[in-house]
Amino acid sequence: FSSVELTQAYLERIKNEDSKYNSFITVTEELALQQATAADTSRAAGNATAMTGLPIAHKDIFCTEGVRTSAGSKMLDNFISPYDATVVRKFNAAGTVTLGKTNMDEFAMGSSNESSFYGPTRNPWDTDRVPGGSSGGSAAAIAAGLTPAATGTDTGGSIRQPAAFCNLTGLKPTYGRVSRYGMIAYASSLDQGGPMAHTAEDAAMMMNVMAGTDPLDSTSAERNVPDYTANLDAPLTGLKIGLPKEFFSARLDPAMATLIQTAVKEYEALGATIKEVSLPNTALSVPAYYIIAPAEASSNLSRFDGVRYGYRCEDPKDLEDMYKRTRGEGFGSEVKRRIMVGTYALSEGFYDAYYKKAQQIRRLIQQDFIRVLSEVDVIMGPTTPTPAFKLGEKTSDPVDMYMEDIFTLSLNLAGLPGMSIPCGMTNGLPVGLQIIGNYFAEEKLLNVAHKFQ
Ligand code: GLN
Repeated sequence: FSSVELTQAYLERIKNEDSKYNSFITVTEELALQQATAADTSRAAGNATAMTGLPIAHKDIFCTEGVRTSAGSKMLDNFISPYDATVVRKFNAAGTVTLGKTNMDEFAMGSSNESSFYGPTRNPWDTDRVPGGSSGGSAAAIAAGLTPAATGTDTGGSIRQPAAFCNLTGLKPTYGRVSRYGMIAYASSLDQGGPMAHTAEDAAMMMNVMAGTDPLDSTSAERNVPDYTANLDAPLTGLKIGLPKEFFSARLDPAMATLIQTAVKEYEALGATIKEVSLPNTALSVPAYYIIAPAEASSNLSRFDGVRYGYRCEDPKDLEDMYKRTRGEGFGSEVKRRIMVGTYALSEGFYDAYYKKAQQIRRLIQQDFIRVLSEVDVIMGPTTPTPAFKLGEKTSDPVDMYMEDIFTLSLNLAGLPGMSIPCGMTNGLPVGLQIIGNYFAEEKLLNVAHKFQ
């Protein structure tokens, strides 16, 4: 079948099914059919690559030329991007077909997709439950069969946690591995784009497109990009796996702990050896992250002032009135909470007590990982403390929502790569196994993930 036929089939499914999940903010039907036609032409001319004609969806945080890019916010509801993010440009160049832009927590702030201006996304495994966040739209769209793969971003878990909740494979690469150019900034020292798909093999194919140095992103790593599919089948004999005792704490659902232990036993059967390790500062990752991320967010979000682009309030009296009402009306409550926390933490007199301290903790967390990863090849544990929770269950208590990220945040603070892969079900709900590797060890992570699938 042709790429046009494949694209039409997915567009049809989105049209018929997505009212149940609300996983797309924008469906780019015209663009998709145009790209699919071009893909069929290049295939007929013998110019096809592995990705030519494959449909994909992009999280609505990646700027897409000529298409609304909202970041899940009223602030950008009217924003049509004049350019493509590097990630989008690379996928376009590889011949993929953009089905649309997926729903997300507002400015990627959240763990449930409930902070989106466009309404919550629902988990296809149980529509009373959240798909996770902030890349919950991407996860739900893949799990519901509305797209074979999608891009996501992960500042503190936003690729891995929704992948875990929706039974998918998600990879958060090393900080700097994937360009952030054109990816609307949340917390710039933590944000990283990555692939979400059903399998490690699909994720590896996507990494071949996404990874690489970008002159437009000064934090992108100057390093060669390997062929991420080349070593998927490499044997795991002698692989050393560390199990951090802090990840198997009282917070972890006991049924999930059993599934993780069973997965680890399978790795042993594949030739791996297991060692208990300790990441003693894990519990501090939540308070440190929830100072650093809001601090950076408060600075990044200062650009939304009603002057340059995006939402502007009606009939402002003067400049100050315009700033205040634009921001007051354009941002949702979680975003405002973060801006207030961040501004407070950075303010004179409190900087040393909060921001500086959080940065010191960040360094300790990184040192824990460096020590452990000098003894083992990968670290394994749960991605989340519980399976997908009910819509509304955690919205009244932000700290309860933040605790959801206890096992994912520390990697972002350290800049390390991590994956979540499906590892079984409890009460009909998917459970994710998290695999953490050393800097730029994505190839190893994908190999380890692939051998389990
Ligand atoms: N849940 C975390 C937060 O709200 C992580 C979000 C993310 O990774 N974008 O900040």
